[in-house]
Amino acid sequence: MSFSHLLFGYCSRFFFRQTSSSRNCFKKSNLLHKSHLSFTHHSSPITVSQKDMYIKLIPALKDNYMYLLVDEETKESAVVDPVEPEKVLELVKEEQVKLTTVLTTHHHWDHAGGNEKLLNLIPSGLTVCGNDDRIAGLNRRVSTNDKIKVGSLTVTAYETPCHTTGHICFYVNSNDNSSKAVFTGDTLFVSGCGRFFEGTAQQMYHALIEVLAELPPETQVYCGHEYTVKGLAYSQHVEPGNQAAADKLVWAKAKREAGEPTVPSTIGEELTYNPFMRVREASVQAHAKATDPISTMAYLRKEKDSF
Ligand SMILES: [Zn+2]
Repeated sequence: MSFSHLLFGYCSRFFFRQTSSSRNCFKKSNLLHKSHLSFTHHSSPITVSQKDMYIKLIPALKDNYMYLLVDEETKESAVVDPVEPEKVLELVKEEQVKLTTVLTTHHHWDHAGGNEKLLNLIPSGLTVCGNDDRIAGLNRRVSTNDKIKVGSLTVTAYETPCHTTGHICFYVNSNDNSSKAVFTGDTLFVSGCGRFFEGTAQQMYHALIEVLAELPPETQVYCGHEYTVKGLAYSQHVEPGNQAAADKLVWAKAKREAGEPTVPSTIGEELTYNPFMRVREASVQAHAKATDPISTMAYLRKEKDSF
């Protein structure tokens, strides 16, 4: 084993284990374990640890994210939108966890397109959750407030129709409610939201303001795409005086130049710079020449579609 092999092994573990807390950084002793860095990707894969659970961001396609959610206590895991199943299975093997569940946010191919292949690769079977007949392999239909267990973790489904009629956001919390995260698919992005392909401004208002903004502010947000820099450029267009947006854009550009993801954010953060989450603010309504949040939402989406 040459020094360069050792170094590569060390670096791959380092980049893969980059965490918001150092708790899990080097919990495995085998630093030479082959990592799924053998795949090409648009961002460094990272791990974010919270108490009782950790989430692995797995870059896919051009700018998608898949996520592996792991319950620390039982090592049971769920995968969100596994469009590239081989990457997911390599990681499942590397982490020595048991994959039991697929959480599908919506039917678009870049989110649900890997379900069938993943099911074929796991003969013991998987619970595939979602809310749209167009999702391949769906075997557990979920609606708002349905609970899905992943080991000791509880995942709650929230219907957020608009980008697609069957879109679901999956909120996860730990037993003692100290750890919280939400997988938002193509409903909420960092400083953005999905296009209204199958819905209305009223529905996106419901999804963003009446569902997601009501989650605890510290809830970490894991979205379906790396769109942050463009989203923040639009935020600055809507609210040129918004310092939170300006600061976040500087940060996000630096992260992208380093090839690092800008996910996760938090619900609390989104409320400070995401114009689609801020449609109740006078400054955002003024930009839209509107006085109500739904008309503001409609204006912003139309403008952003060609921004
Ligand atoms: Zn989509």
